[in-house]
Amino acid sequence: MPGDSFARLYADLIVWDAHACLPLVPGQDMSALERHRAAGASFVHVNVGMDYNPLPQIMRVIAGYRRWLEEHADRFLLAETVEDVRRAKRDGRLAVAFDLEGSMMLQGDLDMLDLFHDVGVRQMHLAYNRNNAVAGGCHDRDGGLSPLGRGVVRRINELGIIMDCSHMGLRSSLEVMEISTRPVVFSHSNVKALRDHPRNITDEQIEACAGSDGVVGICGIGPFLGDDEISTERLLRHVDYVAERVGPRHVGLGLDYVFDQTHDEMPAGQAQDYWYPETQGYDLQGMQIKPPEHLPEIAGALLDRGYEPEEVRAVMGGNFLRVAEATWSAAKGPV
Ligand SMILES: [Zn+2]
Repeated sequence: MPGDSFARLYADLIVWDAHACLPLVPGQDMSALERHRAAGASFVHVNVGMDYNPLPQIMRVIAGYRRWLEEHADRFLLAETVEDVRRAKRDGRLAVAFDLEGSMMLQGDLDMLDLFHDVGVRQMHLAYNRNNAVAGGCHDRDGGLSPLGRGVVRRINELGIIMDCSHMGLRSSLEVMEISTRPVVFSHSNVKALRDHPRNITDEQIEACAGSDGVVGICGIGPFLGDDEISTERLLRHVDYVAERVGPRHVGLGLDYVFDQTHDEMPAGQAQDYWYPETQGYDLQGMQIKPPEHLPEIAGALLDRGYEPEEVRAVMGGNFLRVAEATWSAAKGPV
């Protein structure tokens, strides 16, 4: 495809990155997100806390991120609706929403979901690698959703938060996809059949996700792609696998780019090996992660591989946008 017609196609896309990580520090400068904007991204979901982060830290991180985004409204927008994402795209701004990795910050209280929704959380999963009172994690013996967990899924559906199953155990994720009344995503998870790692997902999970009309966001973390290799070719093998198995309607991108890998997120008193078992090959400071600068290259490579322009549009962001449209618009109340 000639360069200028590709440039026109790319400029017209809603490019959606379903997960990225800035340091979880109150008052954090978020200007690294300029890298997403410069790469033509339209939207990025930014992590505001994991199961091992204390609630006061998470609230202060959200407060600081909100302040920073307000002060940089010429280039960024805290998106509450799909229309906000479209408006940001028209303005050449980057739309941002927050996601939570786990549910321990709810402290067992469903009303906390309403509060997090009010301050900008639009996607969350229920467990982060290890079990908690709500659900099972992918690095634990997953006993499935607790009764509280079923209530959490119900309220997430009611509020219109995107239900995410990354980092969760197999059984809990299947139970979530069974009971969720809205599409379920894996915001940043790769294919277990291509790289056998507990963070990657089985064909059964991929099919259940598609059955909910959800999306698997292929992640740019080297050890989950395989061989700590982040080439576009390697990433597209995971995209191809999901597209061939359940259709290009159910695959997207969640690069999980960590802007500052030197920043140690582990709070005092928490054992890194508990949350990220060394036996699973974690090297948080040293692993390769596909950067946002590669987004245009991914779109071009999809075209070169024979994806139709409409399929490229879907994979680069249209699919996640569809899930957001089916979810964020929810009014509070039973669905
Ligand atoms: Zn994650």
